[in-house]
Amino acid sequence: MDLSARILVCVALGAGIAPATVLEGSPVDATPAIRQYLDHSRFAWNCERTEHFQFCFEPKSLAAQSIRDLKIIAEDNRSAILELVGIPNYDPLIYAFFVNSRSQMKRLIGAKVDGRARPTQHATFYVIDGPRTLAHEITHEILSNVWGAAEPWIEEGFAVYATESPILDDDCRDYIRAHRLLPLEQIVNPRWDSSMYSADITYTELGGFVKYLERTYGIGRIAQVWQQGSQSIPQVYGKSLATLEREWLASLSRLPADRSNCITLTGEASSCPVTGTSTIETPTILISRPHRSSWK
Ligand SMILES: [Zn+2]
Repeated sequence: MDLSARILVCVALGAGIAPATVLEGSPVDATPAIRQYLDHSRFAWNCERTEHFQFCFEPKSLAAQSIRDLKIIAEDNRSAILELVGIPNYDPLIYAFFVNSRSQMKRLIGAKVDGRARPTQHATFYVIDGPRTLAHEITHEILSNVWGAAEPWIEEGFAVYATESPILDDDCRDYIRAHRLLPLEQIVNPRWDSSMYSADITYTELGGFVKYLERTYGIGRIAQVWQQGSQSIPQVYGKSLATLEREWLASLSRLPADRSNCITLTGEASSCPVTGTSTIETPTILISRPHRSSWK
């Protein structure tokens, strides 16, 4: 489906803006949870639809300048995530709110972060400075609603894997060389949260480990651990976390090291060289490494 066919509705919403004008397609009935953002007195949103998203951004913002690209990226990210986890359909309309700064984010949702998902509301939020991947928060949105809530280590690990797969192995190798990877038992547990250690390291490490689990043992066991927690790992995989950790680190030492060149401005991961035992590269759009310390 081409982009013009995807764009069904164009509305203007928010305080001080003309009432919503539906140009084409069905009007969007926002839930009370969404209305708290749409009706926020400090924001004057323009909102536009695609098939699966409602995008809201401020006029003349960087997001407004990039909205055509962002629509394509969001739909592509959503499709890639559904394919990765083997989900044929996902019906909820996903809201994507774009703001210009962490200060604006704090004003809107009460947290000074670059990205945030609120899956129970089907709402995602981003500080945007141009076209970029939206996959991390979309992963939270979809998996939390399809598989339920999980321990944070696997929620974040899977979101990083889904978003940054092509660069994870090299990034993990860099941390291994620098002796900065943490023993997995310190982060693969119900207690870990992103404030405990360097999020740049732990997000990368969890993403790399989840990637290894998924590529080696499949998505079904990931779903089991997602729903049963880290304590189920020995039963699900038939081996301890420590054994899986040794396997993962050994696999990194066997894989070719140079994967950095496969990241392009448009995220054409399909042009990456094939390495390891898998010939499938997660469709990914990456423009720069995220600053994970400000993500959730
Ligand atoms: Zn996250």
